[in-house]
Amino acid sequence: MTETTEKPRHFIHQIIDADLQSGKHKAIVTRFPPEPNGYLHIGHAKSICLNFGLAKEYGGTCHLRLDDTNPCKEEEEFAHAIMEDVRWLGFDWQQHLYHASDYYQQLHDFAVDLIKQGKAYVDSLSIEEIREYRGTLQQAGKDSPYRNRSVEESLDLFARMKAGEFSEGTHILRAKIDMQSGNMNMRDPAIYRIRFASHQRTGDDWCIYPMYDYAHSLSDALESITHSICTLEFQDHRPLYDWFVDNLTTPAKPQQIEFARLNISHTMTSKRKLRQLVEENHVDGWDDPRMSTLKAMRRRGYPPAAIRNFCDMLGTSKSNSVIDMSVFEECVRDELNQHAPRAMCVMNPLKVIIENFPEGEVENLTASNHPNHESLGTRELPFSRELYIERDDFMEDAPKKFFRLAPGKEVRLRNAYVIKCEDVIKDANGEIVELRCSLDKDTLGKKPEGRKVKGVIHWLSAQHAEKATVRLYDRLFTIENPAASEDFIQHLNPESLMIIENCLVEPSLGNAETGQAFQFERIGYFCVDKSSSSEKLIFNRVVGLRDTWAKLS
Ligand code: ATP
Ligand code: MG
Repeated sequence: MTETTEKPRHFIHQIIDADLQSGKHKAIVTRFPPEPNGYLHIGHAKSICLNFGLAKEYGGTCHLRLDDTNPCKEEEEFAHAIMEDVRWLGFDWQQHLYHASDYYQQLHDFAVDLIKQGKAYVDSLSIEEIREYRGTLQQAGKDSPYRNRSVEESLDLFARMKAGEFSEGTHILRAKIDMQSGNMNMRDPAIYRIRFASHQRTGDDWCIYPMYDYAHSLSDALESITHSICTLEFQDHRPLYDWFVDNLTTPAKPQQIEFARLNISHTMTSKRKLRQLVEENHVDGWDDPRMSTLKAMRRRGYPPAAIRNFCDMLGTSKSNSVIDMSVFEECVRDELNQHAPRAMCVMNPLKVIIENFPEGEVENLTASNHPNHESLGTRELPFSRELYIERDDFMEDAPKKFFRLAPGKEVRLRNAYVIKCEDVIKDANGEIVELRCSLDKDTLGKKPEGRKVKGVIHWLSAQHAEKATVRLYDRLFTIENPAASEDFIQHLNPESLMIIENCLVEPSLGNAETGQAFQFERIGYFCVDKSSSSEKLIFNRVVGLRDTWAKLS
Protein backbone atom coordinates (compact mmCIF):
# COMPACT_ATOMS: atom_id res chain seq x y z
CA MET A 1 0.00 0.00 0.00
CA THR A 2 1.25 3.43 -0.84
CA GLU A 3 -0.12 5.62 1.86
CA THR A 4 1.04 9.21 1.98
CA THR A 5 2.98 8.98 5.23
CA GLU A 6 2.90 12.72 5.87
CA LYS A 7 -0.74 13.61 6.28
CA PRO A 8 -1.55 17.31 6.37
CA ARG A 9 -2.17 18.53 9.95
CA HIS A 10 -5.46 20.27 10.56
CA PHE A 11 -7.44 21.98 13.31
CA ILE A 12 -8.70 18.73 14.81
CA HIS A 13 -5.09 17.63 15.35
CA GLN A 14 -4.52 20.84 17.27
CA ILE A 15 -7.54 20.21 19.49
CA ILE A 16 -6.45 16.63 20.21
CA ASP A 17 -2.82 17.62 20.79
CA ALA A 18 -3.93 20.21 23.34
CA ASP A 19 -6.27 17.75 25.08
CA LEU A 20 -3.51 15.16 25.38
CA GLN A 21 -1.01 17.73 26.54
CA SER A 22 -3.28 19.23 29.20
CA GLY A 23 -4.14 15.76 30.46
CA LYS A 24 -7.84 16.18 29.63
CA HIS A 25 -7.56 12.84 27.86
CA LYS A 26 -5.02 10.06 28.05
CA ALA A 27 -6.23 8.34 24.91
CA ILE A 28 -8.65 9.38 22.23
CA VAL A 29 -11.84 7.61 21.22
CA THR A 30 -13.66 8.56 18.02
CA ARG A 31 -16.58 6.94 16.23
CA PHE A 32 -18.15 6.64 12.82
CA PRO A 33 -21.94 6.69 13.33
CA PRO A 34 -23.81 5.92 10.09
CA GLU A 35 -27.52 5.47 9.99
CA PRO A 36 -28.18 2.08 8.36
CA ASN A 37 -30.73 3.48 5.91
CA GLY A 38 -28.67 3.37 2.71
CA TYR A 39 -25.30 2.55 1.25
CA LEU A 40 -22.22 4.54 2.15
CA HIS A 41 -20.86 7.02 -0.39
CA ILE A 42 -17.64 8.91 -0.97
CA GLY A 43 -18.71 11.58 1.55
CA HIS A 44 -18.91 8.93 4.25
CA ALA A 45 -15.45 7.75 3.21
CA LYS A 46 -14.14 11.16 4.25
CA SER A 47 -15.69 10.75 7.70
CA ILE A 48 -14.43 7.14 7.98
CA CYS A 49 -10.88 8.12 7.03
CA LEU A 50 -10.97 11.04 9.43
CA ASN A 51 -12.32 9.17 12.45
CA PHE A 52 -10.46 5.89 11.99
CA GLY A 53 -7.41 7.77 10.73
CA LEU A 54 -7.17 9.98 13.84
CA ALA A 55 -7.60 6.99 16.14
CA LYS A 56 -4.80 5.22 14.29
CA GLU A 57 -2.48 8.25 14.33
CA TYR A 58 -2.92 8.76 18.07
CA GLY A 59 -2.99 5.08 19.02
CA GLY A 60 -6.62 5.49 20.09
CA THR A 61 -9.82 3.66 19.32
CA CYS A 62 -12.53 4.22 16.74
CA HIS A 63 -15.99 2.74 17.21
CA LEU A 64 -18.39 1.78 14.49
CA ARG A 65 -21.82 2.69 15.72
CA LEU A 66 -24.92 1.94 13.71
CA ASP A 67 -27.28 4.75 14.51
CA ASP A 68 -30.44 2.69 14.32
CA THR A 69 -32.89 4.94 16.08
CA ASN A 70 -35.41 5.15 13.27
CA PRO A 71 -37.24 1.82 13.10
CA CYS A 72 -39.17 2.67 9.95
CA LYS A 73 -36.29 3.24 7.61
CA GLU A 74 -33.53 0.86 8.52
CA GLU A 75 -32.63 -2.49 7.11
CA GLU A 76 -30.26 -5.23 8.06
CA GLU A 77 -28.88 -5.33 4.52
CA PHE A 78 -27.56 -1.79 4.88
CA ALA A 79 -25.88 -2.61 8.19
CA HIS A 80 -23.96 -5.47 6.54
CA ALA A 81 -23.06 -3.34 3.56
CA ILE A 82 -21.73 -0.60 5.85
CA MET A 83 -19.43 -3.04 7.62
CA GLU A 84 -18.23 -4.45 4.33
CA ASP A 85 -17.46 -0.97 3.01
CA VAL A 86 -15.57 0.15 6.11
CA ARG A 87 -13.44 -3.01 6.00
CA TRP A 88 -12.85 -2.59 2.29
CA LEU A 89 -11.59 0.93 2.93
CA GLY A 90 -9.01 -0.69 5.17
CA PHE A 91 -10.29 0.07 8.65
CA ASP A 92 -11.03 -2.15 11.61
CA TRP A 93 -13.27 -1.36 14.59
CA GLN A 94 -12.07 -4.53 16.34
CA GLN A 95 -14.48 -5.34 19.18
CA HIS A 96 -16.04 -1.89 19.04
CA LEU A 97 -19.17 -2.46 17.00
CA TYR A 98 -22.15 -0.82 18.67
CA HIS A 99 -25.75 0.04 17.94
CA ALA A 100 -27.66 3.02 19.27
CA SER A 101 -30.41 0.50 20.00
CA ASP A 102 -28.07 -1.17 22.53
CA TYR A 103 -28.70 1.88 24.69
CA TYR A 104 -32.48 2.04 24.55
CA GLN A 105 -32.90 1.11 28.21
CA GLN A 106 -30.27 3.60 29.37
CA LEU A 107 -31.67 6.31 27.12
CA HIS A 108 -35.10 5.70 28.61
CA ASP A 109 -33.70 5.91 32.12
CA PHE A 110 -31.93 9.16 31.27
CA ALA A 111 -35.26 10.54 30.08
CA VAL A 112 -36.91 9.62 33.36
CA ASP A 113 -34.02 11.34 35.13
CA LEU A 114 -34.60 14.52 33.11
CA ILE A 115 -38.31 14.49 33.96
CA LYS A 116 -37.50 14.06 37.65
CA GLN A 117 -35.13 17.00 37.46
CA GLY A 118 -37.91 19.07 35.96
CA LYS A 119 -35.92 19.27 32.71
CA ALA A 120 -38.30 17.32 30.51
CA TYR A 121 -42.07 17.07 30.16
CA VAL A 122 -44.68 15.20 28.24
CA ASP A 123 -46.39 17.48 25.77
CA SER A 124 -49.83 16.67 24.47
CA LEU A 125 -50.19 19.26 21.75
CA SER A 126 -50.78 17.93 18.27
CA ILE A 127 -47.84 17.84 15.86
CA GLU A 128 -49.27 20.86 13.99
CA GLU A 129 -49.68 22.82 17.21
CA ILE A 130 -46.15 22.01 18.28
CA ARG A 131 -44.88 23.32 14.98
CA GLU A 132 -46.94 26.48 15.36
CA TYR A 133 -45.80 27.08 18.95
CA ARG A 134 -42.20 26.65 17.93
CA GLY A 135 -42.06 30.04 16.21
CA THR A 136 -39.65 30.92 13.43
CA LEU A 137 -36.14 32.27 13.08
CA GLN A 138 -37.60 35.79 13.32
CA GLN A 139 -40.20 35.01 15.94
CA ALA A 140 -39.76 33.54 19.41
CA GLY A 141 -41.63 30.37 20.31
CA LYS A 142 -44.52 30.06 22.76
CA ASP A 143 -44.65 27.81 25.80
CA SER A 144 -46.91 24.81 25.47
CA PRO A 145 -49.80 24.80 27.96
CA TYR A 146 -48.46 21.42 29.10
CA ARG A 147 -44.99 22.77 29.83
CA ASN A 148 -45.60 23.18 33.51
CA ARG A 149 -47.17 19.82 34.06
CA SER A 150 -46.06 18.30 37.34
CA VAL A 151 -43.14 15.91 37.40
CA GLU A 152 -45.50 13.18 38.59
CA GLU A 153 -47.92 13.69 35.73
CA SER A 154 -45.12 13.65 33.14
CA LEU A 155 -43.61 10.54 34.71
CA ASP A 156 -46.97 8.83 34.59
CA LEU A 157 -47.68 9.84 31.00
CA PHE A 158 -44.20 8.85 29.86
CA ALA A 159 -44.61 5.42 31.48
CA ARG A 160 -47.94 4.99 29.73
CA MET A 161 -46.44 6.14 26.41
CA LYS A 162 -43.87 3.37 26.88
CA ALA A 163 -46.60 0.88 27.81
CA GLY A 164 -48.33 1.50 24.51
CA GLU A 165 -51.45 3.18 25.91
CA PHE A 166 -51.43 6.08 23.47
CA SER A 167 -51.49 6.29 19.73
CA GLU A 168 -48.77 7.89 17.61
CA GLY A 169 -48.68 11.68 17.67
CA THR A 170 -50.76 12.09 20.82
CA HIS A 171 -47.91 12.75 23.25
CA ILE A 172 -44.21 13.42 23.00
CA LEU A 173 -41.50 13.87 25.55
CA ARG A 174 -39.68 17.20 25.24
CA ALA A 175 -36.66 18.72 26.89
CA LYS A 176 -37.56 21.84 28.87
CA ILE A 177 -34.98 24.36 27.69
CA ASP A 178 -36.04 27.71 26.26
CA MET A 179 -38.85 28.47 23.83
CA GLN A 180 -37.41 31.97 23.31
CA SER A 181 -33.95 30.75 22.30
CA GLY A 182 -32.46 32.24 19.17
CA ASN A 183 -31.35 28.71 18.38
CA MET A 184 -34.40 26.77 17.19
CA ASN A 185 -32.81 23.51 18.30
CA MET A 186 -33.07 24.70 21.91
CA ARG A 187 -36.81 25.39 21.79
CA ASP A 188 -37.86 22.40 23.87
CA PRO A 189 -36.74 19.76 21.36
CA ALA A 190 -38.47 16.39 21.21
CA ILE A 191 -36.68 13.56 22.99
CA TYR A 192 -39.09 10.65 22.58
CA ARG A 193 -41.97 9.99 20.24
CA ILE A 194 -44.44 7.16 19.93
CA ARG A 195 -43.91 4.79 17.01
CA PHE A 196 -45.62 1.46 16.68
CA ALA A 197 -42.96 -0.03 14.49
CA SER A 198 -40.88 -3.16 14.79
CA HIS A 199 -37.21 -2.51 15.09
CA GLN A 200 -34.78 -4.84 13.33
CA ARG A 201 -32.89 -5.50 16.54
CA THR A 202 -35.28 -4.82 19.41
CA GLY A 203 -38.41 -6.11 17.71
CA ASP A 204 -41.56 -4.91 19.49
CA ASP A 205 -39.89 -4.23 22.82
CA TRP A 206 -40.39 -0.52 22.37
CA CYS A 207 -43.09 1.71 21.01
CA ILE A 208 -41.29 4.92 21.96
CA TYR A 209 -38.12 5.83 20.11
CA PRO A 210 -35.51 8.47 20.97
CA MET A 211 -34.84 11.40 18.64
CA TYR A 212 -31.53 11.83 16.85
CA ASP A 213 -29.91 14.65 18.85
CA TYR A 214 -30.76 13.00 22.13
CA ALA A 215 -29.71 9.47 21.19
CA HIS A 216 -26.61 10.62 19.40
CA SER A 217 -25.06 12.77 22.10
CA LEU A 218 -25.83 10.29 24.85
CA SER A 219 -24.60 7.30 22.84
CA ASP A 220 -21.33 9.18 22.40
CA ALA A 221 -21.20 9.84 26.14
CA LEU A 222 -22.03 6.24 27.04
CA GLU A 223 -19.20 5.02 24.84
CA SER A 224 -16.81 7.60 26.35
CA ILE A 225 -16.13 9.12 22.98
CA THR A 226 -13.58 11.91 23.48
CA HIS A 227 -13.99 13.74 20.18
CA SER A 228 -17.32 13.49 18.39
CA ILE A 229 -16.57 14.61 14.87
CA CYS A 230 -19.45 15.53 12.59
CA THR A 231 -20.25 17.74 9.63
CA LEU A 232 -20.92 21.48 9.76
CA GLU A 233 -24.70 21.30 9.60
CA PHE A 234 -24.61 20.07 13.20
CA GLN A 235 -22.92 23.21 14.48
CA ASP A 236 -26.27 24.66 15.62
CA HIS A 237 -27.03 21.39 17.38
CA ARG A 238 -23.93 21.57 19.54
CA PRO A 239 -25.57 23.55 22.39
CA LEU A 240 -28.23 20.85 22.56
CA TYR A 241 -25.61 18.11 22.41
CA ASP A 242 -23.87 19.72 25.38
CA TRP A 243 -27.13 20.32 27.22
CA PHE A 244 -28.02 16.60 27.25
CA VAL A 245 -24.55 15.57 28.32
CA ASP A 246 -24.27 18.30 30.96
CA ASN A 247 -27.65 17.63 32.53
CA LEU A 248 -27.20 13.89 32.97
CA THR A 249 -24.66 11.81 34.80
CA THR A 250 -22.72 10.13 32.03
CA PRO A 251 -19.36 8.34 32.04
CA ALA A 252 -17.82 11.02 29.82
CA LYS A 253 -18.34 14.44 28.30
CA PRO A 254 -17.46 14.19 24.61
CA GLN A 255 -16.58 17.28 22.63
CA GLN A 256 -18.44 17.78 19.37
CA ILE A 257 -16.25 19.13 16.57
CA GLU A 258 -17.62 20.05 13.17
CA PHE A 259 -15.85 19.96 9.82
CA ALA A 260 -16.87 20.71 6.23
CA ARG A 261 -18.52 17.94 4.21
CA LEU A 262 -16.70 16.49 1.26
CA ASN A 263 -18.37 17.44 -2.01
CA ILE A 264 -17.11 16.26 -5.38
CA SER A 265 -18.05 17.82 -8.69
CA HIS A 266 -20.31 16.09 -11.23
CA THR A 267 -21.65 13.67 -8.67
CA MET A 268 -23.92 13.58 -5.63
CA THR A 269 -23.55 12.47 -2.06
CA SER A 270 -27.03 12.33 -0.69
CA LYS A 271 -28.53 8.95 0.09
CA ARG A 272 -31.97 10.18 -0.84
CA LYS A 273 -30.90 11.40 -4.27
CA LEU A 274 -28.80 8.33 -4.92
CA ARG A 275 -31.85 6.23 -4.11
CA GLN A 276 -33.88 8.19 -6.64
CA LEU A 277 -31.30 7.39 -9.33
CA VAL A 278 -31.63 3.69 -8.54
CA GLU A 279 -35.38 3.57 -8.12
CA GLU A 280 -36.06 5.46 -11.34
CA ASN A 281 -33.58 3.22 -13.20
CA HIS A 282 -31.30 6.03 -14.29
CA VAL A 283 -28.46 3.77 -13.26
CA ASP A 284 -28.10 0.04 -13.04
CA GLY A 285 -28.40 -0.38 -9.27
CA TRP A 286 -26.54 0.85 -6.19
CA ASP A 287 -23.25 -0.52 -7.46
CA ASP A 288 -23.49 0.91 -10.97
CA PRO A 289 -19.86 1.98 -11.49
CA ARG A 290 -20.96 5.58 -12.18
CA MET A 291 -22.46 5.97 -8.72
CA SER A 292 -20.66 7.63 -5.80
CA THR A 293 -21.42 4.77 -3.40
CA LEU A 294 -18.43 2.86 -2.06
CA LYS A 295 -20.04 -0.30 -3.40
CA ALA A 296 -20.00 1.21 -6.89
CA MET A 297 -16.48 2.55 -6.49
CA ARG A 298 -15.28 -0.92 -5.53
CA ARG A 299 -16.94 -2.37 -8.62
CA ARG A 300 -15.53 0.39 -10.78
CA GLY A 301 -12.04 -0.59 -9.64
CA TYR A 302 -11.06 2.45 -7.58
CA PRO A 303 -8.40 1.19 -5.16
CA PRO A 304 -9.25 1.82 -1.48
CA ALA A 305 -5.76 3.27 -0.99
CA ALA A 306 -6.56 5.93 -3.60
CA ILE A 307 -9.70 6.91 -1.69
CA ARG A 308 -7.75 7.10 1.57
CA ASN A 309 -5.01 9.17 -0.01
CA PHE A 310 -7.58 11.49 -1.55
CA CYS A 311 -9.41 12.03 1.76
CA ASP A 312 -6.14 12.63 3.64
CA MET A 313 -4.67 14.88 1.01
CA LEU A 314 -7.68 17.22 1.04
CA GLY A 315 -7.17 17.88 4.70
CA THR A 316 -10.05 18.82 6.98
CA SER A 317 -11.42 22.30 7.34
CA LYS A 318 -14.40 24.36 8.37
CA SER A 319 -15.20 25.83 4.99
CA ASN A 320 -17.38 24.08 2.47
CA SER A 321 -16.09 23.56 -1.03
CA VAL A 322 -16.54 21.36 -4.06
CA ILE A 323 -13.52 19.30 -5.09
CA ASP A 324 -13.16 18.67 -8.79
CA MET A 325 -13.57 15.05 -9.79
CA SER A 326 -10.24 15.26 -11.63
CA VAL A 327 -8.44 15.62 -8.28
CA PHE A 328 -9.86 12.29 -7.19
CA GLU A 329 -9.03 10.69 -10.52
CA GLU A 330 -5.44 11.82 -10.21
CA CYS A 331 -5.20 9.93 -6.90
CA VAL A 332 -6.65 6.85 -8.58
CA ARG A 333 -4.15 7.12 -11.41
CA ASP A 334 -1.24 7.51 -8.99
CA GLU A 335 -2.21 4.38 -7.17
CA LEU A 336 -2.93 2.26 -10.23
CA ASN A 337 0.17 3.44 -12.03
CA GLN A 338 2.23 1.94 -9.25
CA HIS A 339 0.38 -1.31 -8.77
CA ALA A 340 -1.60 -2.27 -11.86
CA PRO A 341 0.03 -4.84 -14.16
CA ARG A 342 0.29 -3.79 -17.78
CA ALA A 343 -1.56 -5.58 -20.56
CA MET A 344 -2.69 -4.90 -24.09
CA CYS A 345 -6.22 -4.46 -25.36
CA VAL A 346 -7.29 -3.62 -28.90
CA MET A 347 -10.62 -1.83 -28.87
CA ASN A 348 -11.17 -1.28 -32.54
CA PRO A 349 -9.25 -4.02 -34.32
CA LEU A 350 -7.59 -3.79 -37.75
CA LYS A 351 -6.06 -6.97 -39.14
CA VAL A 352 -2.35 -7.08 -39.95
CA ILE A 353 -0.68 -9.93 -41.86
CA ILE A 354 3.07 -10.29 -41.33
CA GLU A 355 4.05 -11.59 -44.73
CA ASN A 356 7.51 -12.76 -43.77
CA PHE A 357 6.37 -14.68 -40.69
CA PRO A 358 5.63 -18.36 -41.40
CA GLU A 359 2.03 -19.51 -41.39
CA GLY A 360 1.11 -21.74 -38.43
CA GLU A 361 4.15 -20.71 -36.41
CA VAL A 362 3.82 -19.19 -32.94
CA GLU A 363 6.60 -17.41 -31.12
CA ASN A 364 6.24 -16.92 -27.41
CA LEU A 365 7.61 -13.54 -26.44
CA THR A 366 8.03 -12.40 -22.86
CA ALA A 367 6.74 -9.09 -21.57
CA SER A 368 7.29 -7.57 -18.16
CA ASN A 369 4.11 -6.76 -16.24
CA HIS A 370 5.35 -3.44 -14.92
CA PRO A 371 8.06 -1.09 -16.15
CA ASN A 372 9.37 -0.33 -12.62
CA HIS A 373 8.37 -3.27 -10.48
CA GLU A 374 10.11 -6.52 -11.32
CA SER A 375 8.17 -8.13 -8.49
CA LEU A 376 5.06 -7.98 -10.67
CA GLY A 377 6.75 -10.55 -12.92
CA THR A 378 6.40 -11.29 -16.61
CA ARG A 379 3.91 -12.92 -18.90
CA GLU A 380 3.97 -14.81 -22.20
CA LEU A 381 2.88 -12.96 -25.26
CA PRO A 382 2.21 -15.15 -28.31
CA PHE A 383 3.24 -13.67 -31.67
CA SER A 384 1.98 -15.05 -34.98
CA ARG A 385 1.51 -14.15 -38.64
CA GLU A 386 -1.95 -12.69 -38.16
CA LEU A 387 -2.22 -9.79 -35.73
CA TYR A 388 -4.61 -7.06 -34.72
CA ILE A 389 -3.69 -3.45 -34.12
CA GLU A 390 -5.84 -0.46 -33.24
CA ARG A 391 -7.54 0.99 -36.31
CA ASP A 392 -6.56 4.47 -35.13
CA ASP A 393 -2.90 3.51 -35.22
CA PHE A 394 -2.90 3.40 -39.01
CA MET A 395 -3.37 6.32 -41.39
CA GLU A 396 -3.26 6.11 -45.12
CA ASP A 397 -2.41 9.76 -45.69
CA ALA A 398 -0.50 10.39 -42.53
CA PRO A 399 0.80 13.85 -41.67
CA LYS A 400 4.52 14.15 -40.95
CA LYS A 401 4.05 14.05 -37.21
CA PHE A 402 2.05 10.81 -37.23
CA PHE A 403 4.51 8.37 -35.69
CA ARG A 404 2.35 5.32 -35.95
CA LEU A 405 1.77 3.08 -38.96
CA ALA A 406 1.36 4.40 -42.51
CA PRO A 407 2.12 2.99 -45.98
CA GLY A 408 5.87 2.41 -46.33
CA LYS A 409 6.44 3.48 -42.70
CA GLU A 410 7.76 1.57 -39.73
CA VAL A 411 6.49 1.26 -36.19
CA ARG A 412 7.43 -0.83 -33.19
CA LEU A 413 4.98 -3.36 -31.82
CA ARG A 414 5.10 -3.07 -28.05
CA ASN A 415 7.24 -5.84 -26.48
CA ALA A 416 7.95 -7.21 -29.98
CA TYR A 417 9.35 -6.33 -33.40
CA VAL A 418 9.50 -3.35 -35.69
CA ILE A 419 7.15 -3.82 -38.63
CA LYS A 420 6.75 -1.95 -41.91
CA CYS A 421 3.53 -1.43 -43.80
CA GLU A 422 3.93 -2.83 -47.32
CA ASP A 423 0.39 -2.83 -48.62
CA VAL A 424 -3.15 -1.75 -47.78
CA ILE A 425 -6.08 -4.02 -48.65
CA LYS A 426 -9.56 -2.51 -49.10
CA ASP A 427 -13.02 -3.93 -49.69
CA ALA A 428 -15.42 -2.95 -52.46
CA ASN A 429 -16.48 0.17 -50.51
CA GLY A 430 -12.95 1.37 -50.16
CA GLU A 431 -12.87 0.47 -46.46
CA ILE A 432 -9.49 -0.69 -45.20
CA VAL A 433 -9.81 -4.33 -44.12
CA GLU A 434 -6.22 -5.48 -43.74
CA LEU A 435 -2.62 -4.33 -43.77
CA ARG A 436 0.22 -6.35 -45.25
CA CYS A 437 3.42 -5.82 -43.29
CA SER A 438 6.91 -7.19 -42.97
CA LEU A 439 8.92 -7.51 -39.80
CA ASP A 440 12.57 -6.97 -39.06
CA LYS A 441 13.73 -10.06 -37.10
CA ASP A 442 16.69 -8.13 -35.69
CA THR A 443 14.59 -5.66 -33.76
CA LEU A 444 13.39 -7.79 -30.85
CA GLY A 445 14.54 -5.85 -27.80
CA LYS A 446 16.99 -3.95 -30.03
CA LYS A 447 16.94 -0.69 -31.94
CA PRO A 448 16.76 -1.09 -35.70
CA GLU A 449 20.04 -0.45 -37.49
CA GLY A 450 20.63 2.83 -39.23
CA ARG A 451 17.13 4.27 -38.83
CA LYS A 452 14.91 5.78 -36.21
CA VAL A 453 11.51 4.30 -35.37
CA LYS A 454 9.65 6.63 -33.07
CA GLY A 455 6.23 5.10 -32.63
CA VAL A 456 5.24 2.16 -30.44
CA ILE A 457 1.79 0.63 -30.78
CA HIS A 458 -0.06 -2.18 -29.04
CA TRP A 459 -1.16 -5.34 -30.82
CA LEU A 460 -2.47 -8.86 -30.29
CA SER A 461 -2.07 -12.20 -32.01
CA ALA A 462 -5.37 -12.85 -33.80
CA GLN A 463 -5.67 -16.54 -32.99
CA HIS A 464 -4.73 -16.07 -29.31
CA ALA A 465 -6.59 -12.92 -28.35
CA GLU A 466 -9.60 -13.19 -26.05
CA LYS A 467 -12.81 -11.34 -26.80
CA ALA A 468 -13.90 -8.81 -24.23
CA THR A 469 -16.52 -6.15 -23.65
CA VAL A 470 -15.26 -2.83 -22.40
CA ARG A 471 -17.39 -0.26 -20.61
CA LEU A 472 -16.23 3.31 -20.81
CA TYR A 473 -17.58 5.64 -18.17
CA ASP A 474 -17.87 9.37 -18.20
CA ARG A 475 -19.21 11.77 -15.57
CA LEU A 476 -22.73 10.88 -14.48
CA PHE A 477 -23.81 14.53 -14.63
CA THR A 478 -23.04 17.24 -17.11
CA ILE A 479 -23.04 20.01 -14.52
CA GLU A 480 -20.64 20.54 -11.67
CA ASN A 481 -23.11 20.60 -8.82
CA PRO A 482 -26.19 18.53 -9.70
CA ALA A 483 -27.31 18.45 -6.06
CA ALA A 484 -27.96 22.18 -6.26
CA SER A 485 -30.35 21.74 -9.15
CA GLU A 486 -34.11 21.45 -8.58
CA ASP A 487 -34.35 18.74 -11.16
CA PHE A 488 -30.99 17.02 -11.18
CA ILE A 489 -32.32 14.21 -13.36
CA GLN A 490 -32.34 16.54 -16.37
CA HIS A 491 -28.60 16.99 -15.99
CA LEU A 492 -27.73 13.32 -16.30
CA ASN A 493 -25.01 12.83 -18.89
CA PRO A 494 -26.54 10.77 -21.73
CA GLU A 495 -23.05 9.62 -22.66
CA SER A 496 -21.98 8.50 -19.22
CA LEU A 497 -21.75 4.88 -20.37
CA MET A 498 -20.38 3.63 -23.65
CA ILE A 499 -20.21 -0.10 -24.21
CA ILE A 500 -17.68 -1.45 -26.69
CA GLU A 501 -18.28 -5.03 -27.69
CA ASN A 502 -15.78 -7.19 -29.51
CA CYS A 503 -12.64 -5.74 -28.06
CA LEU A 504 -9.65 -8.03 -27.86
CA VAL A 505 -7.34 -8.61 -24.93
CA GLU A 506 -4.26 -10.68 -24.25
CA PRO A 507 -4.83 -14.38 -23.61
CA SER A 508 -3.29 -14.00 -20.14
CA LEU A 509 -6.36 -11.97 -19.14
CA GLY A 510 -8.67 -14.87 -19.90
CA ASN A 511 -8.54 -15.97 -16.27
CA ALA A 512 -8.29 -12.59 -14.57
CA GLU A 513 -10.43 -12.34 -11.47
CA THR A 514 -13.24 -9.95 -10.63
CA GLY A 515 -11.84 -6.75 -9.20
CA GLN A 516 -8.38 -7.14 -10.73
CA ALA A 517 -7.17 -3.93 -12.33
CA PHE A 518 -4.82 -3.53 -15.29
CA GLN A 519 -3.31 -0.76 -17.27
CA PHE A 520 -4.23 -1.37 -20.88
CA GLU A 521 -1.20 0.23 -22.41
CA ARG A 522 -1.85 3.55 -24.10
CA ILE A 523 -5.55 3.39 -23.19
CA GLY A 524 -6.18 3.55 -19.48
CA TYR A 525 -6.89 1.57 -16.35
CA PHE A 526 -9.46 -1.19 -16.47
CA CYS A 527 -10.93 -3.52 -13.91
CA VAL A 528 -12.63 -6.89 -14.35
CA ASP A 529 -16.35 -6.44 -13.69
CA LYS A 530 -18.28 -8.68 -11.33
CA SER A 531 -20.52 -9.85 -14.18
CA SER A 532 -17.46 -11.10 -16.03
CA SER A 533 -17.23 -14.85 -16.64
CA SER A 534 -15.14 -17.28 -18.66
CA GLU A 535 -17.71 -16.92 -21.46
CA LYS A 536 -17.79 -13.16 -21.37
CA LEU A 537 -14.97 -10.99 -20.15
CA ILE A 538 -16.13 -7.54 -19.09
CA PHE A 539 -13.84 -4.69 -18.16
CA ASN A 540 -14.82 -1.39 -16.57
CA ARG A 541 -12.69 1.61 -17.33
CA VAL A 542 -11.55 2.92 -13.98
CA VAL A 543 -9.89 6.03 -15.33
CA GLY A 544 -8.07 7.16 -18.45
CA LEU A 545 -4.31 7.55 -18.60
CA ARG A 546 -4.39 11.31 -18.57
CA ASP A 547 -6.79 13.90 -17.39
CA THR A 548 -8.76 13.94 -20.59
CA TRP A 549 -11.95 12.07 -21.04
CA ALA A 550 -10.84 11.31 -24.55
CA LYS A 551 -13.48 9.33 -26.31
CA LEU A 552 -12.44 6.68 -28.73
CA SER A 553 -13.19 7.97 -32.18
P1 ATP B 1 -26.87 11.63 3.64
O1 ATP B 1 -26.94 13.11 3.63
O2 ATP B 1 -26.31 11.03 2.40
O3 ATP B 1 -28.17 10.97 4.06
P2 ATP B 1 -26.03 11.41 6.29
O4 ATP B 1 -25.14 12.44 6.82
O5 ATP B 1 -27.45 11.48 6.65
O6 ATP B 1 -25.81 11.28 4.75
P3 ATP B 1 -25.24 9.37 8.08
O7 ATP B 1 -25.40 7.91 7.95
O8 ATP B 1 -26.00 10.09 9.12
O9 ATP B 1 -25.56 9.97 6.66
O10 ATP B 1 -23.69 9.77 8.16
C1 ATP B 1 -22.73 9.13 8.94
C2 ATP B 1 -21.58 10.07 9.11
O11 ATP B 1 -21.01 10.42 7.87
C3 ATP B 1 -22.00 11.35 9.79
O12 ATP B 1 -21.10 11.62 10.84
C4 ATP B 1 -21.92 12.38 8.70
O13 ATP B 1 -21.58 13.64 9.24
C5 ATP B 1 -20.82 11.81 7.80
N1 ATP B 1 -20.98 12.28 6.42
C6 ATP B 1 -22.05 12.12 5.62
N2 ATP B 1 -21.85 12.74 4.43
C7 ATP B 1 -20.62 13.29 4.48
C8 ATP B 1 -19.84 14.07 3.56
N3 ATP B 1 -20.29 14.40 2.34
N4 ATP B 1 -18.60 14.47 3.95
C9 ATP B 1 -18.14 14.14 5.17
N5 ATP B 1 -18.82 13.43 6.07
C10 ATP B 1 -20.05 13.00 5.75
MG1 MG C 1 -28.14 11.58 8.55
